Amino acid sequence: MTVTPTRTPYQLAEERTAHNYHPLPVVVEHAEGAWMTDVEGNRFLDLLAGYSALNFGHSHPELLRVAHEQLDRLTLTSRAFVHDRFADFCAALGDLAGKDLVLPMNTGAEAVETAIKVARKWGYEVKGVTPGQAKIIVMTGNFHGRTTTVVGFSDDPDAHNGFGPFAPGFEAVPYGDLAAVEAAIDENTVAVLLEPIQGEGGVVIPPDDFLPGVRELCTRHNVLMAADEIQAGLGRTGRTFACDHHDVVPDLYILGKALGGGIVPVSAVVADREVLGVLRPGQHGSTFGGNPLACAVGHAVVTMLATGEHQRRATELGVVLRERLEAMVGHGVLAVRTRGLWAGIDIDPTVGTGRDVCEALMARGVLAKDTHGSTIRLAPPLVISEEDLRWGLDQLAAVVGAA
Ligand SMILES: *Cc1c(COP(=O)(O)O)cnc(C)c1O
Repeated sequence: MTVTPTRTPYQLAEERTAHNYHPLPVVVEHAEGAWMTDVEGNRFLDLLAGYSALNFGHSHPELLRVAHEQLDRLTLTSRAFVHDRFADFCAALGDLAGKDLVLPMNTGAEAVETAIKVARKWGYEVKGVTPGQAKIIVMTGNFHGRTTTVVGFSDDPDAHNGFGPFAPGFEAVPYGDLAAVEAAIDENTVAVLLEPIQGEGGVVIPPDDFLPGVRELCTRHNVLMAADEIQAGLGRTGRTFACDHHDVVPDLYILGKALGGGIVPVSAVVADREVLGVLRPGQHGSTFGGNPLACAVGHAVVTMLATGEHQRRATELGVVLRERLEAMVGHGVLAVRTRGLWAGIDIDPTVGTGRDVCEALMARGVLAKDTHGSTIRLAPPLVISEEDLRWGLDQLAAVVGAA
């Protein structure tokens, strides 16, 4: 299959938009399931799934039905009034996470900011930290979004440099280093903020004892464990939450991406009353957070996840993904890391850059995205067929010379 990429709308975008992204030269017009179609009618298998925002694929019929129905009825009230979709969504999401309370926001970065605010307020009001001294421990290689506070503790120079001055109160320790976490905890520490698997970092999986160890340290030192499951959570790894693989329950779940079903931005912080209960009227908010359309779609997402069907699919297809990728190691691929239907693939530089590989994949009808130069992240929609997944991996094998 040869594909001629569409150029003109791409060039217009290059001319008239900020260059904060460097997209592949494809202009998508519609999509269904795991397949996208460009303006010229070329079809592409989507192996990125909107960085896990499209875990249930494009145009999922049930999610679309719920969204259409809600669009025709009620879309926005603001939180000044209660609407009829709000409580049900929040209760269902709380139940899915086994927590008392839900605070809905819109984007992932906002949910991370919310968790930071909640952790600090909890620190001052419950733990008794000296006012203004709260410290949050974060990990090297983290990605938690693009706000000024969050990029302040990023060690990715592109994300960080040129955007200061930054908010104080964060200390970074090496990801996966339990002793470093313990050494960094002091009487002012209110939270340890981490991704259970670092997605943007290249699907980096910590040592097996890390998450249980952090949980134990946080409990022992009266520190909140805040798990940013925005990319790792909601079925991607074969469990509802990536922390589930270690039977670890964080104090705060930070959710986003797939929670909006690929239709609307929906994010949330989910925690027990002792934690989220520190917020009182006027202390935090969002005009669009928890709007009726977001709650309707989010509730449908939670309902789908509650059956466990998508988690099972991620586990089953994850075996196919892992076996096929591991066979490529030593043949154009240096290393692979997978969990569920999620993979980070380090490309041998002799094959080319990650970008080169993604462009070659595109020419074969497969869309994927590089991260950090030489790593490709694969996050196919969980609804992908096994046949399509195998075909997509055949294309990757051909591109890296492992076929
Ligand atoms: C994508 C992502 C975010 C930011 O989400 P946005 O919706 O883009 O603001 C935060 N944390 C993690 C782990 C992410 O993958």
